[in-house]
Amino acid sequence: MTSRNSRLRAARDIKRRAKAPSTYPPEHCVVPGCELPTQRSASQGLSEEYCKPHREHLRAHGHEHRKSYSKAELMPFRQAVLEWYRLHQHDAPVRMALSRLEALMSSQGRSQDAYRQRSMSPEGKARNTLARLHEAGKTAEQLFLIVLTIQATQAELGPWGAPDWEAVQISKQAKRLRGAAGTHYPDGTSRYPRSEGLYLRHLGRMIEERASIAFGSDTIDHIRAQARPAAKVSRPPARPPRDDSRDELRRMEAFLGLFGAGGRTTIVGG
Ligand SMILES: [Zn+2]
Repeated sequence: MTSRNSRLRAARDIKRRAKAPSTYPPEHCVVPGCELPTQRSASQGLSEEYCKPHREHLRAHGHEHRKSYSKAELMPFRQAVLEWYRLHQHDAPVRMALSRLEALMSSQGRSQDAYRQRSMSPEGKARNTLARLHEAGKTAEQLFLIVLTIQATQAELGPWGAPDWEAVQISKQAKRLRGAAGTHYPDGTSRYPRSEGLYLRHLGRMIEERASIAFGSDTIDHIRAQARPAAKVSRPPARPPRDDSRDELRRMEAFLGLFGAGGRTTIVGG
């Protein structure tokens, strides 16, 4: 465990290096289509791969540009997960996963307030969030359903090739559970830890590891298949293939109609 002083010293060192002039020829962000220089090249941080906006999006969402799942995106998967859970909640592996999740939350001791959380290590922050969930009366069941929902949604909608995505989405959903997102002080003010950074990955991984003993990829495939018809509806219909010649004809018809050519207009196509 590192002391608070050595962490502060490390933080100052990072700040100094982040502002240091770039010693390399300027390099561009690795995200396709992004023209911005990397943080390092712009003297705006340490990243040698990403520009500042993409780096910050990655910290907050677990992907360079994909936004976190919306409620509407998750809904069909959530419904299918509840269906599955109704039938399997008494299975031995599910009971075991639930008791491990329960132990994970209840073994973290008393939570520190959101202000003190700021100076904790990423793992400490993750454990503190678990303690807060426990004190707010959140159940192992809630965490378990979140893991299944996120895994099934990711399997169906992607994004793929983003190793932190699932863990970050799981902890975002867990943190969002009502009453557990921050500290509420007696004077009526509230403080919420920023939802970004390494601790989201720690938190998501800890929860996912305990929940995942209860199901395999066949379960995820089953839930996906159940959710698919509803998931399709919420997406915009595919655009028909573009047909320029027809478009041109329709524009001409509309044009002639505008001038009151009257009756049926026949256009001889070439
Ligand atoms: Zn970029």
